[in-house]
Amino acid sequence: MSTDPSPDFGSVDRLEVPHRAFDDEAASLDAADPLRHHRDAFVGAETPLVYFDGNSLGRPPRATAERLARFVTDDWGGRLIRGWDEAWMDLPFAIGDRIGALTLGAASGQTVIGDSTTVLLYKLLRAALDAQMGRDPQRIEIVVGRDDFPTDRYLVEGIAAERGGRVVWIDVDTSRGVDADLLRAAVGPRTAVVLLSHVSYRSGYLADGPALTAVAHDAGALVLWDLCHSAGSVPVELDAWEADLAVGCTYKYLNGGPGSPAFAYVAARQQAALTQPVQGWMGAADVFSMGPVYRPADGMRRFLSGTPPVLAMVAMQDTLDLLEDAGIAAVRAKSIALTDFAARVADGILAPLGVTLASPRDSAERGGHVTLSHPAMRAVTARLWEGDVIPDYRDPHGLRIGLSPLSTSFAETLIGLRAVADAVRAESAGHREV
Ligand SMILES: *Cc1c(COP(=O)(O)O)cnc(C)c1O
Repeated sequence: MSTDPSPDFGSVDRLEVPHRAFDDEAASLDAADPLRHHRDAFVGAETPLVYFDGNSLGRPPRATAERLARFVTDDWGGRLIRGWDEAWMDLPFAIGDRIGALTLGAASGQTVIGDSTTVLLYKLLRAALDAQMGRDPQRIEIVVGRDDFPTDRYLVEGIAAERGGRVVWIDVDTSRGVDADLLRAAVGPRTAVVLLSHVSYRSGYLADGPALTAVAHDAGALVLWDLCHSAGSVPVELDAWEADLAVGCTYKYLNGGPGSPAFAYVAARQQAALTQPVQGWMGAADVFSMGPVYRPADGMRRFLSGTPPVLAMVAMQDTLDLLEDAGIAAVRAKSIALTDFAARVADGILAPLGVTLASPRDSAERGGHVTLSHPAMRAVTARLWEGDVIPDYRDPHGLRIGLSPLSTSFAETLIGLRAVADAVRAESAGHREV
């Protein structure tokens, strides 16, 4: 055991008061939460497991088990190949429009679901760069944050190499993200496309959508928003921002299940000018004429390539039903209340253990997760998973606390953060022993 009395992590005096106050606060926040009954709509809500990773893989709605079973017996089993004509050919657009209306501020005819986020990002970025280089051969630069999600950065590097483009990196503080000043310094007459994360996967920093879109447009660039950590959690107004392009995941806050297909948004005014490089039959003008040459379809169909993963589109529809019922504004209000509460609890019981907040403090600059930093967080995460408290870990030293508003309660948040405190204390004690 340690004989060093100074890092007195277990001091009852210091912990008891905030603990009791937080219990009362969690209870009253849950009692006043207009979305509290939605939590029971999710598998696992009845167990003591604490889930802090709905921003990475959302919990399944209970209704999904039945919806999937019904799909297999009635739709797939009953309709067989007729299902394509009757419903499935249209499903990527019908669900895309619903996602657009409920979460993206996108009028119909601009959103489709199909491939993975990575593949859709590739298709849209390539289309945007090619269109810009076609208009002005000087516009060869793709601007991206150096701390963006790996797939985004890797794609930008690959596309630049493939097309003779150039990458312009924006350096950012890893506890924040790209703001208007940083973007303004990076764009210019050579900028073709700007790729931006609306909510940073690492810090949870919430970028200013309309301001950054305007900065990109003032420089003559197109803007592509990555909405993976926004869709279903933070309201987005793509049409009002006058955004050009967007992509995002459906297996995070939209609870579509592991590997459910991503969505792509292309503003109506840009669709005719953009052609994507994966020219498959499902994106062709007349799918069943099977003509001798590829001619892209009008509208969003041209952004499809091959047969869409219909089975993987089934599950997300239950969360879209829940979102339609709750409204994205109420979801955002609860998200802010959850992350504010988590930050207060972290200040009360984790800051004394040396844990710092690696996310913006101001909720106006924060999405649906908070990141807590401490040198022991990698080991802390492993310890928490063993005890059925499930956050995730991101370098450097970051424990991500994802607070999915439809499926997370304030009491659950408090229990989980207490477990984090216990795990940090245990890891710190372990290190003092050696
Ligand atoms: C989760 C995430 C992705 C994931 O891409 P996949 O193709 O689904 O693996 C991409 N970008 C960001 C910002 C993400 O958070």
